Amino acid sequence: MKRILVSACLLGQPVRYDGRAKGKGEGLLALWRAEGRLVPLCPEIAGGFSVPRAPAEIEPGASGAEVLTGGARILDTTGRDVTGGFLAGAEAAVALARKTGCAFALLTEGSPSCGVARIHAGHFDGTTRPGEGVVAAALRTAGVAVYGHDRAEELARRLAQVE
Ligand code: SF4
Repeated sequence: MKRILVSACLLGQPVRYDGRAKGKGEGLLALWRAEGRLVPLCPEIAGGFSVPRAPAEIEPGASGAEVLTGGARILDTTGRDVTGGFLAGAEAAVALARKTGCAFALLTEGSPSCGVARIHAGHFDGTTRPGEGVVAAALRTAGVAVYGHDRAEELARRLAQVE
């Protein structure tokens, strides 16, 4: 059975910057949880951040891969450079995926950590743009197939093919 690393906030854990969750772990997530497939992680908590925390975004024009290679930073709304904590969270995600044998990940879209196809634009005005977060980039580089949370059904079809 293939295991799936999953953003903890999708399972109802109140770990987002504002102390809220992103979902309740319903539907396919409930099925996968009952199967014992899910490996939940909040990379930002693993990276040392607390709840609540100031919202943070990748610098305008950059994406997670550039943050990983030192070419861009992540700043919070106070202007603080919080890149180090995000990198620590990405490292923790890759380490956990390796330790638990996760070849797949289902991650929360829009986040500077977990975003797969979309991240906030870096202006703290609610706008988003195509791009991936640091965790998605690190997992992808490590060979994990990453899916945004809105692609759970596609992941289910992929699992059916490989199992
Ligand atoms: S880092 Fe990922 S798991 Fe943690 S709150 Fe943000 S989107 Fe959710």
